[in-house]
Parts: sequence; C-alpha cells; structure tokens
Amino acid sequence: MCHNVPREECGIFGVFGHKDASLLAYLGLYALQHRGQESAGIVSLRDNKFYVHKKMGLVSEVFAEKHLQALKGDRAIGHVRYSTTGSSLVRNAQPLVINCFYGSMAICHNGNLTNANALRSHLEGMGSIFQTSSDSEVIVHLLAKPSYPQKHDRLIYALGQIKGAYSFVIMDEDEIVGARDPFGFRPLCLGKLEDAYVLSSETCAFDLIGARFVREIEPGEVVIINKDGVKSIKPLRPQPQKFCIFEYIYFARPDSLIFNKSVHSIRKAFGKKLAQESPVDADLVISVPDSGNSAAIGFAEESKIPFDMGFIRNHYVGRTFLKPNQMIRNFSTRIKLNPLRDVVEGKRVVVIDDSIVRGTTSQSRIASLREAGAKEIHMRISCPPHKFPCYYGIDFPSNTELIASNHTCEEIAKFIKADSLGYLSVEGMIDAVGGENKFCLACFKGNYPIEPCKDVTKDILERKNTTVTLREV
Ligand code: SF4
Repeated sequence: MCHNVPREECGIFGVFGHKDASLLAYLGLYALQHRGQESAGIVSLRDNKFYVHKKMGLVSEVFAEKHLQALKGDRAIGHVRYSTTGSSLVRNAQPLVINCFYGSMAICHNGNLTNANALRSHLEGMGSIFQTSSDSEVIVHLLAKPSYPQKHDRLIYALGQIKGAYSFVIMDEDEIVGARDPFGFRPLCLGKLEDAYVLSSETCAFDLIGARFVREIEPGEVVIINKDGVKSIKPLRPQPQKFCIFEYIYFARPDSLIFNKSVHSIRKAFGKKLAQESPVDADLVISVPDSGNSAAIGFAEESKIPFDMGFIRNHYVGRTFLKPNQMIRNFSTRIKLNPLRDVVEGKRVVVIDDSIVRGTTSQSRIASLREAGAKEIHMRISCPPHKFPCYYGIDFPSNTELIASNHTCEEIAKFIKADSLGYLSVEGMIDAVGGENKFCLACFKGNYPIEPCKDVTKDILERKNTTVTLREV
C-alpha cells in the first residue's frame, strides 16, 4: 500500500427518527466517501432487531437497492473506513455490532485510541474475547462490562478509560449516542431533517440529504438522541482543545464546515498567507487537484498571478489497477493527474500542493510538468513541513519516511527537482485559521497533546523502518 498521501481513517454517520433512515445513511456515507474507501457499512434497527450490511469496497459497490430495502427501521448508523489500526479485513469493517448481557448495540468510530493495546490486553486477561483487530472494539467491551447497571453510567465509565482521538456514534434499542473526545481531535456535527436528528463527521453530508446543520458536538460532549429529543452531557474532565488542523489542510471536503469554519475559506487563507511568506516571480498559478485548488485560488488572488488548470484529474481511477512495467514512467501518478501542455508550456509555473509526505509523488508531478514544457516550476506547500507521525488516527508513515523530518527545504527542492520550494510556516498557518491556539500541531512540531503509549509508538514505528534516501529518478 502506498502512503504517498496521508489518509483519513473514517467517516461516521447516524440518523434517528426518519422512515428512510438507511437511505439517508447511504447518502450520508456517499458524501463522506473521501474519508475512507476500504469498507462501508450500515446498521439499522427496527422492533429491537438490528439489520446489518457491510463489506469491503466503496459505498457504491457495497450497497444495492436490495440491501437498503433490507435495512429496516427509522434509525441507522453508518461508517466508511480506511484502516489505521487493525488490518483491512471485512471483520474489521464497521459498524461493529455486539450482543451482551444488556442487549445489543452497534458502534462507529473515527480516530485512534492511544491506549487501545493496553486496554485490550487487560480486557483479554479478564476473559473478553475480541472478534476484530480494530482498536474500536475496545470501547465495545468496556460498554459491555457489568460493573454499572445503568446504561449511561457504563458509557461514562467506558469513555473515562479510553485515551486518544475519537468521535463515536453508538446505537442501541432506545437511542443513538454521539460522543467526541475531550480534546476534540476529530469533528462530529449534529443536524436536523424534519423531525429526525442526524450526526455526521462533516456537514457536506447534511447538504446532500437536505438536513439543517444545528451545531458541532463539543469536545468532551456526549449527545443522547431518543424519542424525547436530544440530551447533552459533559461527563469528562475538560482538556485544552486540540482540533486536528489536517482536517483543514487536506482531509475534509472544501464544502464542509469543520470546527465551525468553512474548509474552502480556510484553505484560501492558507494560500494567501503562503503567497505573502513565499512570493515568487511567475506567469501562472496551478494546483494539484482537488485538495490544492482552494489554496491555489488564495495564492493567485494574493500574488495577482493568474490561476489556471494545469493538471486534469482522472476521476474514474479504481482503487486497484494493474501496474504496467517500467516502460511507462510515472504511470501511477500520471493515471490520476495529467498536465495540460497548452497551459504550462513555456511558462514559469507556481504549483500549489497541500503536503509533501515522501517526496516521490511531487517528484513525478514535477517531471511530468517539465515534459509538458513548463519553463520553471516553483513548488509551494499550503502547510508546514511534515516531520512527525500522527498517533491520533491519521495514517502518515513513520518519521523515518517523512522526507521533511530528515531533510532541509533546499534538499527536498533538489530531490523533487523544483526550481524553488516554499512551505507555509506554523505561525502563518495559525494566523490563517484565526490566530487561536486550539489546534493539534504535533505532526509539525512533535508536541503531542496526549503522550502516545509505548505500544502505539512501536506499532507506528514498525510500519516500515526505511530511511528516505534522495535518489535520482
Ligand atoms: S498529529 Fe497532525 S494529523 Fe495527527 S491529529 Fe495532530 S494535527 Fe492532526
């Protein structure tokens, strides 16, 4: 699996009190597809019976009309997944459904629990039998513990045990619960559609189903949605807010509101700031679509250099394809993005991208622009150099593989063969999001808000232990 771009773990969705609950969940997952492309699943509930359908694949591949008809009931939760912990197997696909002493429940999780392995060992020692290798199952076993007869006490107990990043949607016979960790790493939003309540990782899913965005679930907040309406509790000790700034940089859709701000506007502000910090004399600004588009528009506006489409994206690339032999250079990069010769030929081009992870993808893109006749190529990155791994659910490679963790900007420019390279500064990025100190910056600065447990660190470091070497291609 290629980790040249960071990947988001999951998108979660829930609906309570609508006759077309599973159809709404299906549409919601469609809107959240960018957050996970490995598996998709929906669990619905009618007359205390759970209906489940989940499989490996994209939402459009997993669900057919017959599946949605079989997912009965006026409430449903759904999940799209890209695995960061737990291998990519269908048994790890969510929602997870369990039957325990207290009844049945289904759960969807976005994020990464930093103490999952320690909790799992403890629970297994106490006799729990795990069915998956996913960290999300830990919460299920904690919820099933018989120490607290009251359901909400069990929930508070379980949330009190886990550490790390999480947004959850949990469904049982009576209600749907949405919960967000006290630092607020991952987003979770509440919406309303007629009399029904909806929960979603991002607001773009509300737009698709015609729901009204009510508000974000706050960090540390638990909302309980049942036939009496919505109840909110804040059972956990408050923590400093640490929203994942990578949601703005790369993951979230530009048409979503994340942490109550428009992703498109924030990305434009990143581009403007980048133009102020790293100006360049050029003829044209182009973006690496799609996530670089908004920042490129901001850069062009600020620098007064015209913006044009320099790359065309092929939207129909499947998740797997046969790799041809070495005769076709840059195939995997080219199949996704092809430069527009008419636009770039003979031009001094500024290319706006949202990140450089290993550097190999940027190298191929720049090579293809040169072949298309670009005279100069100035790479500008709408976030700071990416130096440290993430323990909160974003699948960057280990820091030995992150090119910026052991190379200077000049060395990286040489490696990717750009005429110049500029990154947005950490200060510029914070300025662009409004100057507030409420974001996690650990992948840029190494200042982890929650110290990663040893087992997680080991797991991430062992993913691949190869140092990036600056090789010519
Ligand atoms: S380390 Fe980076 S990617 Fe991970 S939560 Fe923090 S800001 Fe997001």
